[in-house]
Amino acid sequence: MNAAEVTSRSLGERTTPSLGTAVLSRRATAITDRHRSKLAIVYIRQSSTQQIFDHQESRERQYALADYAATLGWPRERIEVIDDDQGRSGRTAEHRPGFQRLIAEVTLDHVGLVLGLEISRLSRSSKDWYHLLELCAVFGTLLADQDGIYDPNDANDRLLLGLKGTMSEVELSTMRNRLERGKLHKAQRGDLILNVPCGYLKLPTGEVILEPDEQARATVQLVLDKFAELGSYGKVYRYLKRHKIYAGIRIHQGPRRGELVWRHVSRALLGRILHHPIYAGAYAYGRRQVDAKRTAANGGKVRMRAVPMSEWKVLQRDRFPAYISWERYLANQQRLGSNRSWPEAPGVPRAGAALLPGLLVCGACGRRMHAGYRSKAKPYYECMRRKLEGSSCCGLGAAAVDDLVGRQALRALEPAALELSLRAQLQINQERERLHRQWQLRLERAAQTAQRAERQYHAVEPENRLVARTLEQRWEEALRAERACQEEYDRFLQDQPRRLTDNERAQIVALANDIPKLWHAAETTAAERKEVVRLLIERVVVHVQADNERGWVEIAWRGGLTTKHEIIRSVARYESLGAYRQLLKRIRQLRREGMTIARIAKQLNDEGYRTPRSRKGYTSTSVRKLLSRCRQKAEASRASHTQTK
Ligand SMILES: [Zn+2]
Repeated sequence: MNAAEVTSRSLGERTTPSLGTAVLSRRATAITDRHRSKLAIVYIRQSSTQQIFDHQESRERQYALADYAATLGWPRERIEVIDDDQGRSGRTAEHRPGFQRLIAEVTLDHVGLVLGLEISRLSRSSKDWYHLLELCAVFGTLLADQDGIYDPNDANDRLLLGLKGTMSEVELSTMRNRLERGKLHKAQRGDLILNVPCGYLKLPTGEVILEPDEQARATVQLVLDKFAELGSYGKVYRYLKRHKIYAGIRIHQGPRRGELVWRHVSRALLGRILHHPIYAGAYAYGRRQVDAKRTAANGGKVRMRAVPMSEWKVLQRDRFPAYISWERYLANQQRLGSNRSWPEAPGVPRAGAALLPGLLVCGACGRRMHAGYRSKAKPYYECMRRKLEGSSCCGLGAAAVDDLVGRQALRALEPAALELSLRAQLQINQERERLHRQWQLRLERAAQTAQRAERQYHAVEPENRLVARTLEQRWEEALRAERACQEEYDRFLQDQPRRLTDNERAQIVALANDIPKLWHAAETTAAERKEVVRLLIERVVVHVQADNERGWVEIAWRGGLTTKHEIIRSVARYESLGAYRQLLKRIRQLRREGMTIARIAKQLNDEGYRTPRSRKGYTSTSVRKLLSRCRQKAEASRASHTQTK
């Protein structure tokens, strides 16, 4: 039985024509002992289309490839099956650890043969496929599928493999395009309506009518009218919140499908009502399209983005009953567009003086905090939720938290701190050295075992056949163990962390010495400082409470470390000072001692009492004000005292 027959029988495939048999048997001879001494890897993946058709069968056929490798002369334990990627349908190798492992093993020169069902589907993009072919050619690895064995160094095989890859990619994209085109055709007829937004109802016939419930209709009309009146998304949202207005929404899924429920108008729903063209009676398709850049950044999870109206795939006016005119709709869109003032997180560093916009998060609700510049000299951070929804979250003057974070950033860049982290890296390297020695010992032991087995085999008399056979087996096993050990060691070496050279270390330390100078230099712009902070810090969470000058800040550094710090922020009122009672007591005391008001102010400053806001410290005016408060308080308590008597 030649290899070609093995192929067709073991895989239950159609019989190969006789010419093919000749070609395939020639290919089978391409396998040499050098290939057999390395691993045979069966790469198993299920493409999503196969899953639909013959899920179970194709899986069994894929695992049968391991048997096929055995008939080609690979020992069972040297056949490895990589099936990490089952059920994944990533289009590139990036998010398929199995395919990457396959590439890594080929690169480490561990692999003699790669097997796969319809091998060109091993990868889903031509780029990955050619990369694999290229590597297999360099390392002399063969490829096999149910149709035969291919040597990527052979020009004819190479041509065939290339064609197979191209064809399977074309096939896939044809299928995808056909689906997409079908949808588009339906959309162009205006028939592709999945769900209609609140305020409309889709009948079982497919016809779309206005919501029959009068109150639900009225809510939608109110939202649209209010936008015309108030002119801003935020204002409309706050209005709806304040007046506790609910929207009537039809449930789209589940057993209660079609039922009308009443819900708060969420921010998302408000956005939909203001942006959706159906409210002006228009049918649209393709308002949102896949954002390739963000999708790639998000590990292949599809991310959409809204596209401008000129790029919509289908737009038909006057298709549905409308709440507003088309002209009103267009005007609304323009208004919404020009209102938009904050970019998506965290945005580009802007020229404003505040250090942390884009990084700062409100500790109370977890929303982002934005910098406001009501007075140019004193930027102020405010929680977005408070701004949009009027929550009770607390804002704070930028100075306190900016100073703290700036100081901490500089401290992280101090030569001493850097020296510490460089030393930590050195320790990691030493740890690795130890592991290295362990590996050396293991390798030596494996080699010794193999040598001993070999000596024993040679020592036995050839007549003593049975003993010789056992010893031969033992020798083979020892050789195999040695080889497996060596392969394992290669993998260990591969994920070696990068080491810094002495020169690099010196450069880093020298740079660190210059940083404080640069940071404080007058030529350094606010935007540059922000860039530096963003290199070091991922986000900053601020916890502050109303009427309390003390708050605390969590800094999440890049690399996973989080540190906590206390801040003293400037507050609006003396009562918010932590030391307020003590302050009043001290003033009264000093006054009793006969001190002048100006003298008291100086004394308070010397003793380190903080004022809520003023940077000048205590003055005669502020002391006088506080003294009068003391008097009022004393009188009030005396009055209530006499009343109770
Ligand atoms: Zn908040």
